[in-house]
Amino acid sequence: MPQIVNRYSRGAGLLDQLACPEGAHRCNRLPAAPRLRDMTVVPYRAAPDASSWPHCDVALPGGVECRGRRVAPHTACLAHLSGTDRSAYLADLRPGADLDHRGTCFTEELLSELLTAHTEPSTLKPRLGQARFERATFRGDARFDLVEIDSDALFDGAKIAGDISFNQAEISGRALFRQVKIGGNAGFDRMNCLIASA
Ligand SMILES: [Zn+2]
Repeated sequence: MPQIVNRYSRGAGLLDQLACPEGAHRCNRLPAAPRLRDMTVVPYRAAPDASSWPHCDVALPGGVECRGRRVAPHTACLAHLSGTDRSAYLADLRPGADLDHRGTCFTEELLSELLTAHTEPSTLKPRLGQARFERATFRGDARFDLVEIDSDALFDGAKIAGDISFNQAEISGRALFRQVKIGGNAGFDRMNCLIASA
């Protein structure tokens, strides 16, 4: 069984879509409302090991290492950059840019700032390139509604304290949510993607 959600929000969403008997599929072409026990699950693969990217050098309370990915050329992750460095990083971002914030801890405010930095002026929607959030932690909600992702959306091993939503998101590549832990609701209403896996 997948470990993606405790509850499900509404409509034909990711878990429904995974019930396609062919496994990999075009999400937006599938019928709604198959039952969970009928689900065909993509074979299990572990989330990427946290040692596979350069870690932030900030020590957390208790001396625990922060596993957020460093934001080059700095040695800290996005959550631990100084205010000046974070502002400069966000100011340099453009719609369609790749993101790699594996292992990073996001507040709702930080995620909002990141998505705002990628907002396409013509559509007023955030547009990302490859979006890597494997093993990231979201302290509140993780809302990616209306986001356009030109490549893959990678969330394996992520932890979301609140809700996660990709309502009306457009993902040109894979949407991977394996081993994701969600404290609230998961909404994937009218999300389009190439392949979804949980
Ligand atoms: Zn950090």
